[in-house]
Amino acid sequence: MADNSSGFAVAGTLGTTSGRGDGDGSDIPAILITENASWDESRKPTVVITGAIHGNEWATPEVCLGIAEYLLANKDNSEAARDDFGMLINEAAQKTGDGKTEKKIVPSISDIARLLKTVQVVIVPVLNPDGYDFSHTDAGRKSYYGAGWRPNRRIQGLLDQDIVCYRQDGSQYASVPSDVDRCFLADFDDTADGGDLEEEEVVVCESRDGSSLYLFEPSLNVDSAEMFDALYGSTDPARVVCASSQRRVWKDAWPLIGEDTVALKTARADGYLQESSGVDLNRNFQYKWDVVQDQKHLFIRSRSPSSRMFRGRKMISEAETAAMERLVARMNVVALIDYHAGSTQVLYPYAYSTTEHAEHTYLGKRWGKNDYEAFRLLSEQIASILNRHDRGDPSIVNFTAAQNYNDVSVGSGVARDCYYQTERIAAINIEVHDKRYTYENEEFRSIVPKICKINVPGAVWFMFWAADLGARVED
Ligand SMILES: [Zn+2]
Repeated sequence: MADNSSGFAVAGTLGTTSGRGDGDGSDIPAILITENASWDESRKPTVVITGAIHGNEWATPEVCLGIAEYLLANKDNSEAARDDFGMLINEAAQKTGDGKTEKKIVPSISDIARLLKTVQVVIVPVLNPDGYDFSHTDAGRKSYYGAGWRPNRRIQGLLDQDIVCYRQDGSQYASVPSDVDRCFLADFDDTADGGDLEEEEVVVCESRDGSSLYLFEPSLNVDSAEMFDALYGSTDPARVVCASSQRRVWKDAWPLIGEDTVALKTARADGYLQESSGVDLNRNFQYKWDVVQDQKHLFIRSRSPSSRMFRGRKMISEAETAAMERLVARMNVVALIDYHAGSTQVLYPYAYSTTEHAEHTYLGKRWGKNDYEAFRLLSEQIASILNRHDRGDPSIVNFTAAQNYNDVSVGSGVARDCYYQTERIAAINIEVHDKRYTYENEEFRSIVPKICKINVPGAVWFMFWAADLGARVED
């Protein structure tokens, strides 16, 4: 792509991943698109587009490449940009004085030639290449209730003493309490009876004397506040929530010594403790990495190295997140789209809270009294562009604008919150497919091109808007 771009594109790499942790990392490829493209240009206002921070979100790299192709195909086009149905992308800019009172953002740029003179665009189709590759293997596809492998692939280590336990308020015990039972997130394995291995399905508790292991109220959903309350609410016996670097598996085939209870020795001898790997890169960023309020059911996941939503041992502990931080520190990044799958939403900061809003004015008060208003207006307009053409599949349209994924806090360390809060970047997420992540070959070929056609005009409009941001605005 970059080779035939007449100087409008250069390929590059953001860095190298850790792989499994033993020197088998992969490059994180990137493409820079602008007039006279050069990776040495650090002052030109920059829009960053990232895909596949979650390995299993297969449509997102394709959307990123679709955006790159559109920009390069129209690099010399100084007529107002149009979508594949011929509709104007920055439609409102072509209308004058229609007397509407509806509040709208109207970017001043409408064509790609001028856009690429004004901004540079860095596209990172696969930010998590190891997770993405593994999600294409049999094991990776089955992962996480069949949704596919989400985090990166770094092995977490096998330190048995590496147990950390938490109080109900989220604070950490200085040492593992010895007078209580210790409970962990675990997989539920009933493959011996013809069932499945369900990851992160149950909570298991190790008795304080180290003799037994029991399944904690399997009727309760791990993903619920009730589970968390029940763990702490009952005092007979007293229990605490803990995490360790090992993955735990409860096997239904084990011989019981009491109700849902087995000898810990038996369990250990039969694969109770296993290696765990992977950090959810979209929980590893520094802003609110350690948040505890309103996190009940997410708390145990984000702190468990065995979980697909593990936040990492430290903020920015991963090569991929560090590479992004280097990029935004080096270039004049003014705006960013991080593409995801799982719903059809345009999401703006913050992810960690349903009540706190982006009340700064980093974006310059031009589109509302604070950034929350600007983001909401911006995201609603993008959603309406994405909803413009119904391509016959309701799962890839019906976009809404929202602060939180499906109206719930998704917890700590989310990339977009961090880019906005610490770097003052106008960062949004776009989720491109409702409840879907991976695909069979046939459906990939039929549905993903439609997803790209829907999403390219939304990204282009966002870039037109971002061009007006110019240099970063101080608060
Ligand atoms: Zn995602």
